[in-house]
Amino acid sequence: HDLRNEDLKDLQELGQGNGGSVKKVEHLPTGTIMAKKIVLIDAKPSVRKQILRELQIMHDCHCDYIISFYGAFISDPNICICMEHMDKGSLDGIYKKIGPIDIDVVGKVALAVLEGLTYLYDVHRIIHRDIKPSNILCNSKGQIKICDFGVSGELINSIADTFVGTSTYMSPERIQGAQYTVKSDVWSLGISLIELALGRFPFADSESDDSDLSEFEGTLSPSRPNPLALPPRTKEQRDKKKKRKSKGVSLQGGGMTMSILELLQHIVNEPAPRLTPEGRFPREADDFVDSCLYKDPDQRKTPKELLKHTWIENARTTKFDLEAWASTF
Ligand code: ADP
Ligand code: MG
Repeated sequence: HDLRNEDLKDLQELGQGNGGSVKKVEHLPTGTIMAKKIVLIDAKPSVRKQILRELQIMHDCHCDYIISFYGAFISDPNICICMEHMDKGSLDGIYKKIGPIDIDVVGKVALAVLEGLTYLYDVHRIIHRDIKPSNILCNSKGQIKICDFGVSGELINSIADTFVGTSTYMSPERIQGAQYTVKSDVWSLGISLIELALGRFPFADSESDDSDLSEFEGTLSPSRPNPLALPPRTKEQRDKKKKRKSKGVSLQGGGMTMSILELLQHIVNEPAPRLTPEGRFPREADDFVDSCLYKDPDQRKTPKELLKHTWIENARTTKFDLEAWASTF
């Protein structure tokens, strides 16, 4: 039952990301609908075979909160990864379509991601490394599952890191070059949850505009050398920078534009974002998000520990009907 490209009929383009594109396909011999991810890899055949071998671990991942894997193959010069198709798409697409996500649903998302991360780490010692709304998928049964986790070290090495898009959910310690741990995924989860609840990427708001940025410059603890710390800027430099703001690689949202470097500096140097305004969301939700976003990874809990949080326990027992919710869009 090896998957072959000839047996797959393209039905629809599902999206494009950093490393390639994803298509909805039908596996003709069985009639199974799948999502086929095409990853363009500039690597030697031996490396490609190694990647393929590493991807086979996904055959052993069986968890309600993890996308099922059908198989992977080389289709020169690409690697194709076939996985479960989630017919409601990813959560970034969902909030862009319907607006901010109901906080009860956000709680269910948090629960699903924590369960998925705990499974990956406890059973397979896998760290996800790319938690973000576009890697959290939903289907019309109301299931929420994560995809695109870092099973293959070779694949991680091979995909050209363009630094655009993917880097923005990165934890402060990762930006500063520390090792990846499960706690880095927890940071990314916190950022993703705020994005879903507010309906916009949390760093792109007017609060983080230039005028405020200077206030925090130079307040960084000297005990931790920080390669990204900004030299203090003069008012003239700030004004000049405002003029050329729209040039270069940039992120846009909520009325401001930040370059990737500025964003990374912001994550390292500024207080972590929060669910705002205070009082709009349940206190337990605020508290959960805060505990995901401790800037010091030693303070941050693991996914397994966070499963015991009151907000998550509530999300587990609540009667909220995700299937009914998913039928509204
Ligand atoms: P990214 O995750 O950075 O957006 P990807 O190439 O991983 O880039 O995916 C592109 C898009 O394809 C995603 O945003 C998502 O909406 C869609 N997609 C990915 N996998 C699936 C899947 N298994 N089922 C349905 N849609 C998917
Ligand atoms: Mg993805």
